Amino acid sequence: MRIDTKNIISKLKLLKAKRIMVQFPEGLKMKILEIAKVLEKEGFDLILNVEPVFGACDIRDFEGKRLGCDMILHIGHSDFGVKSELPVIYWDYFFDVNPIPALKKNLEKLNNYKNIGLFTSIQYMPAMLKVKNFLEKNEKNVFTHKSQKYEGQVLGCRIFAATTLKDKIDCFMYIGAGRFHPLGVALTTDIPTFSLDLEKNEIIDFQKEKKTYMKKKAWHDVKLKEARTIGITVSWKQGQNRIEEAMRLKKSLEKEGKEVHILAFDTISKEKIIGMKFDCVVNMVCPRMDDEDLF
Ligand code: SF4
Repeated sequence: MRIDTKNIISKLKLLKAKRIMVQFPEGLKMKILEIAKVLEKEGFDLILNVEPVFGACDIRDFEGKRLGCDMILHIGHSDFGVKSELPVIYWDYFFDVNPIPALKKNLEKLNNYKNIGLFTSIQYMPAMLKVKNFLEKNEKNVFTHKSQKYEGQVLGCRIFAATTLKDKIDCFMYIGAGRFHPLGVALTTDIPTFSLDLEKNEIIDFQKEKKTYMKKKAWHDVKLKEARTIGITVSWKQGQNRIEEAMRLKKSLEKEGKEVHILAFDTISKEKIIGMKFDCVVNMVCPRMDDEDLF
């Protein structure tokens, strides 16, 4: 993982930051004290916000203001225009991984595909560039699109950088880890979708995952139809706030004779609603929260 403190210190100094609320992802917990020490040596007072943060949708400006902060330092995610009452400095960090051994080992899975659309999440951007070079040297045509800060970058809830390529390519390939981003693209298009999973070191075909997901979804649709008491989750996080859509959904489900309640969360977890006896819970917060036991 590469952390460039020099650049961030000059930005913070330029903005005359004094007391800073720091938001950082789970993956950076092991490093955060080291980073804090470097910044505090420069004279900044830091408040480390240890609540989970999954994206730049979650800006803790109100909390920061209450604690007397004049700035938010948001590590690990890039700005996509969420409003904030405090200035926010976004600090990218990238995983330092070499994707080529895993790609070489699994390359025959791409034998039938000449035109490949690549996409990734911000932390794997350098890895995606290595994959792009490698594939081009191996006579593939590689396509990417820029709709976020970086070429080929997607967010869990914004996959346009991938889907916009669908008419040019034979398959998609996600570079990173986990199922969320590649599954989102596989569900949105009919193009074969793969993931070069850099934790499992293999290329995974998401067509099977897509079929399993669609079966579960059909079953969930039946459960929703049969449900009498329904919860709809919403969040007050600035970039996840879909309360008006949730209210409209509540009204339309009530017209079908259901009892519907809006459930407001900070971070969603099943434990928080244990004992409330819902037949069904509909998630209207972040699509990344795809807990199949809960929703
Ligand atoms: S996928 Fe979820 S956590 Fe990520 S930016 Fe979108 S709403 Fe936020």
